[in-house]
Amino acid sequence: AHLDRIAKVDDRVRAFLYVDTEGALAAARAVDERRAAGEDLGPLAGVPLGLKDVFTQKGVPTTCGSKILEGWRPPYDATVVRRLREAGVVILGKTNMDEFAMGSSTENSAFGPTRNPWDTDRVPGGSGGGSAACLAAFEAPLAIGSDTGGSIRQPAAVTGTVGVKPTYGGTSRYGLVAMASSLDQPGPCARTVLDAALLHEVIAGHDPLDSTSIDQPVPPVVEAARSADVRGLRVGVVKELGGEGYQPGVEQRFREAVDLLAELGAEVVEVSCPHFVYALPAYYLIMPSECSSNLARFDAMRYGLRVGDDGIRSAEEVMALTREAGFGPEVKRRIMIGTYALSSGYYDAYYGQAQKVRTLIARDFERAFESVDVLVSPTTPTTAFRLGERVDDPLAMYKADLCTIPSNLAGNASASFPCGLSPEDGLPVGLHVMAPVLADDRLYRVGAAVE
Ligand code: GLN
Repeated sequence: AHLDRIAKVDDRVRAFLYVDTEGALAAARAVDERRAAGEDLGPLAGVPLGLKDVFTQKGVPTTCGSKILEGWRPPYDATVVRRLREAGVVILGKTNMDEFAMGSSTENSAFGPTRNPWDTDRVPGGSGGGSAACLAAFEAPLAIGSDTGGSIRQPAAVTGTVGVKPTYGGTSRYGLVAMASSLDQPGPCARTVLDAALLHEVIAGHDPLDSTSIDQPVPPVVEAARSADVRGLRVGVVKELGGEGYQPGVEQRFREAVDLLAELGAEVVEVSCPHFVYALPAYYLIMPSECSSNLARFDAMRYGLRVGDDGIRSAEEVMALTREAGFGPEVKRRIMIGTYALSSGYYDAYYGQAQKVRTLIARDFERAFESVDVLVSPTTPTTAFRLGERVDDPLAMYKADLCTIPSNLAGNASASFPCGLSPEDGLPVGLHVMAPVLADDRLYRVGAAVE
């Protein structure tokens, strides 16, 4: 049924870069066989899923939305993919994304943008716009995203879906093509809070193949999603994440969600996190620095595209020609910013300074969590913007992640949950919830309460 739905609507939505019809049907049949053999597969066996095209899946094309990887079929499964398969989840195909997860609208995909199913003239957010749009268009009930600065949560907000960035180290990055390794985190996307929790439980947990994986039990996310109990929960509204630049309709729905939490027995207070206003500039130094290093591996020799290899040109020339042709403008911009920020003489002034700010942001969280259990804000300052509206203005594009970036820098868990439609334009608004490291279950408690 979901493959039929994809065939019917994906020409318009373009959530998928690759639909693995045969692989999906074979996986579904395998679930039947395992069940017939008496295996207890758990609640998500046989449930279809869209996989962001930044995860390796053995033998299936993986592009990261980039021309430079066109034609590459990875020889191994990401840990997330392996766990999905073990649980019998049926992977329908690879979802569209901004190139190497750099962007907030999917317009940086080398294969054209995804459209927001609520209004196809608008963006579905990014970078994981495909994963969010496939849910909103009912092409899949589950999806996997990756979140470096908001790429799970911001698309969830603008498509009216649920998106969770687990605690850094809570889900394995093995087989997630690296953007900024100290920030990247795989996470679940779904239409309901309980679905997201069930998926979270499947993909989370310690993985020796990821050196930053946390060796701790998975927080009780499913139990929390089922309980929806927020009585006595102390909720801090972050003072710095609101006001100027936030659409009134977004703020109104956010306020109503907070009022609902109070009605349900939560204690709501205002909290100040004074360094959050520096999160965006710090992110745009740390993230590109790591990108410039991570993307050095695309050297025309190891993967995908190779341009100008005529037997006469040097390896350096082939590398330069391939990177020139294979990377899009946003990727090049970040490689240049990162290379500059890391270069000798500038390292302390930019990268070093940004790392200090990162520590201050983590301390803001720690201080706040001394007096509250979770922090809340809108997920993103505006509802879905129009295609093309921000493509020539990188700074306007970057501002979509004002609220989501602090949790990536500090590594704590956070999520976006639907909280109604903006009275201004009838488009979805997201409630952003931030919890301490390894307290991912609190997100689900709050999400289920407002659902
Ligand atoms: N919009 C952010 C960026 O462009 C988000 C990236 C992400 O989370 N992958 O960097």
